[in-house]
Amino acid sequence: MDCIFCKIVRKEIPAEIVFEDNKVLAFKDINPQAPHHILFIPKEHVTSVADLENIIVISDLFAAMKQVAQTIGIDKSGYRIVVNHGKEAGQAVPHLHFHLLGGRPLKWPPG
Ligand code: AMP
Ligand code: ZN
Repeated sequence: MDCIFCKIVRKEIPAEIVFEDNKVLAFKDINPQAPHHILFIPKEHVTSVADLENIIVISDLFAAMKQVAQTIGIDKSGYRIVVNHGKEAGQAVPHLHFHLLGGRPLKWPPG
């Protein structure tokens, strides 16, 4: 499949992987918007949160995000988890991904 994140899962293109198990992969965003900006994806291709059928994968993703946030030391200072769906939210990659952002104060509301 011609999906850039599936290619990262298959190790066909490089990424700075920070977490991996049999269902979830996490890697550093190539264009970080904060000192820590990590993407968490299900290994199984899902186009967006709107197409998600296997809801169980969400708990796997959140467990991974919680663990990585602790590992990189932003669990006490704080972090933000973001999912973009569709055009107006600016979803650029059509493979479901959660952004974990931290390491600086984050403004609200987002732009
Ligand atoms: P979104 O706008 O929510 O679809 O976010 C897509 C994110 O994927 C952006 O933050 C990009 O910087 C990031 N991205 C795109 N290609 C890669 C890549 N090859 N490796 C790591 N991050 C990527
Ligand atoms: Zn994919």
